[in-house]
Amino acid sequence: MITMKFGGTSVGDVKRLQDVALIVKTHLPRHPVVVASAMGGVTDLLLDTARLAVKRSSQVEPNLRLLKDRHLQVSQALVRDRERRDELMERQARLIDELSTLYHGVSLLKELSVRSLDAIASFGEILSCLQIASILQDHDIPAEFIDSREIIRTDANFGEAAVDFPTSSDRIRRRLLPLLGKSCVPVVTGFIGGTEDGLTTTLGRSGSDYTGSIVGAALECEEIWIWTDVDGVMTADPRYVQGARVLPQISYREAAEMSYFGAKIIHPKTMVPAIEAGIPIRIKNTFNPSAPGTIISHTADTGDRIVKTITSIDNLSLIAVEGNGMVGVPGISARIFAALARVQVNVIMISQASSEHNLCVVIPHRDCAKALHELKSEFERDIAKKVIDEVKVQNPVSIVAVVGEGMKGFRGVAGKTFTAVAEAGINIVAIAQGSSEYNISLVVEQANAHKAVQAIHDVFHLG
Ligand code: ADP
Ligand code: ASP
Ligand code: MG
Repeated sequence: MITMKFGGTSVGDVKRLQDVALIVKTHLPRHPVVVASAMGGVTDLLLDTARLAVKRSSQVEPNLRLLKDRHLQVSQALVRDRERRDELMERQARLIDELSTLYHGVSLLKELSVRSLDAIASFGEILSCLQIASILQDHDIPAEFIDSREIIRTDANFGEAAVDFPTSSDRIRRRLLPLLGKSCVPVVTGFIGGTEDGLTTTLGRSGSDYTGSIVGAALECEEIWIWTDVDGVMTADPRYVQGARVLPQISYREAAEMSYFGAKIIHPKTMVPAIEAGIPIRIKNTFNPSAPGTIISHTADTGDRIVKTITSIDNLSLIAVEGNGMVGVPGISARIFAALARVQVNVIMISQASSEHNLCVVIPHRDCAKALHELKSEFERDIAKKVIDEVKVQNPVSIVAVVGEGMKGFRGVAGKTFTAVAEAGINIVAIAQGSSEYNISLVVEQANAHKAVQAIHDVFHLG
């Protein structure tokens, strides 16, 4: 058995979907389970339209038409059997009507909760997987649409729900194994789950990768394949870095570290179920299926490369708490983290100057205003007493991370990284190295992030 997850671009148009059907057909003897995303761009469109609906914008109707046309065009082109096609198109039209009712509700109430956003976002994966199941059937591949709200049980933390593994694994096995037993391909919606009360949740943006590995691990598949639009995990994002190269093999740790630090190729949580079950993850290219791709497993590349990838995350803010009076005062960092936790701000990176007179945290830019407000009120008295001089912000910044297992215990990587960035004329705002030594991260102004990534990529000859 293998699980094959297809991303948004892989299911984004008629040509790609034809390729998906061929890929599934080729691998039928291995009993594939398909997990798929919404068509590329659809989740953004669904969520943007919800935000327009609250504002009672006239753009809602045209967006709904766009969505409908995009799906119906695929059904028309790829499902040749008349009866099957009519049934699919009717079902898609009914879903668009339901969606329209939801937008109408949002618009009437002028209220848009994270719960409603999840319900709205789920339509992307449902519409997409319904059409994939029909396309496979049309290619004489027995296939069945599976709504993952029935099998992936989550808590009610809308927008980024936590998975209840024992319940989900049990349901996945009970629902999918009988289908696989009769050589039928389950087509499972990625990204979405359901609570005990039957409410729709999502696993976080780009969460279909995670669904793929939850399903693959529950079924104890031989491998989990993530089909995307590049030949594998590369030394840097090929969209921004010249000479980026495919890595044939990386470890789970490296993949987790690089995805946490912004490499969009795989969702950071994807590695968790796979590590526990010891199942390799393979990244493959739908546009170039014969390429071997990248294998992610317990084993890192046996080559001599110390640094594997350079990544970056944009749209961040750096908040620094500074003051000469802070030196030797216990509990300042605990108070910073407690204040940020109170307003539910996730800290991506922490850095403290060894002089103890400056402590900074890097957080998502969207949370900056509330974080700053909370920190200023937390330290109001200390500011008045001059223990702390100021709580200051720098915006927008990016974290650039250098990732590789070989860095552990290898001296000189940090020095080489900082010199490369400095020689590119870029100022380093802050630095952090985790005690794992699998990564070194630095903060730069956002405008310089891609240039910094390129400079580090070049200095380690990753291309
Ligand atoms: P999908 O829709 O298939 O899930 P994504 O857009 O989420 O695809 O992820 C694939 C994209 O990730 C690639 O097109 C590439 O631009 C980007 N990417 C970022 N960092 C890397 C990297 N280190 N290696 C490969 N791709 C990367
Ligand atoms: N469609 C969802 C998103 O765009 C999930 C995914 O593509 O993995 O975030
Ligand atoms: Mg993705």
